[in-house]
Amino acid sequence: LETVHTVAALRGLLARARREGKEVGLVPTMGALHRGHLSLVALARRGDDVVVASIFVNPAQFGPNEDLTRYPRTRAEDVALLQGAGVDVLFMPSVAEVYPRGFATRVEVGPIGTVLEGKTRPGHFGGVATVVTKLFNMGGPDRAYFGQKDAQQIAVIKQMVRDLDLPVSIVAGPTVREDDGLALSSRNRFLSARERTAATVLSRALQAGRQEAEERGATSEKVRLAMHDVVMAEPLARLDYATVVDAATMDPLDEPRPDALLVIAVVVGSTRLIDNMVLGGV
Ligand code: AMP
Repeated sequence: LETVHTVAALRGLLARARREGKEVGLVPTMGALHRGHLSLVALARRGDDVVVASIFVNPAQFGPNEDLTRYPRTRAEDVALLQGAGVDVLFMPSVAEVYPRGFATRVEVGPIGTVLEGKTRPGHFGGVATVVTKLFNMGGPDRAYFGQKDAQQIAVIKQMVRDLDLPVSIVAGPTVREDDGLALSSRNRFLSARERTAATVLSRALQAGRQEAEERGATSEKVRLAMHDVVMAEPLARLDYATVVDAATMDPLDEPRPDALLVIAVVVGSTRLIDNMVLGGV
């Protein structure tokens, strides 16, 4: 594992790889790594000759009242995990390297960035799109890997890649879960023992929503209610949203089509968690 901190060093390494005809896969992360991140590395390992992982806690995607300063940072463990997973290059730039003095240009995402997560977190997806564009331009990967866990992020990035003709293929990896259904997330470590138990409410609500969607005459309203009821029964949980959307546009759907996506966001204690499920998926 070779660790680099500057764009120049990253480009140097990857230019060499490319001269040798190798294809490059990029796995962008914010660190505090878990099996979800490592599953993306494993996908990249299968699809590409050279695997680059980045760790960068991107200030541009955090709102003023969000958890930027308390975002978990576990660098030594992260490096060991990436090494064990067979990553070739770890790119770990400073904030000044990514956003030098005078930085001013941003990627603006369309309406898809203003609903669901974007409604609660204004500016979040613009920050994501900006840093992902920069990472693509810094590394020039052939493929970039993102988790289905952040379904709206994938939709935003796919739209951006289409709209801006970015020469990279986006690969989505399935959500990795704990045995009880909780989707792995760097933020799970903030949960107390009681909150950790309550946090299964997201996957339980999604299951209930899917069950309702499989009933004859199902409507998205009934599916929403089924998810809502599960969350209401959990005293430590506060529902932000639970709804049925088109997976590509995030537009709300009246009917739970087989390719629709159930999306949910719940605050458990003081930790905001998200999850989703493709209706026809597994
Ligand atoms: P983050 O470090 O939270 O920005 O996540 C980096 C990448 O890992 C993103 O593409 C996430 O969607 C993905 N990811 C996070 N959690 C999971 C999970 N439980 N399963 C699969 N991928 C995940």
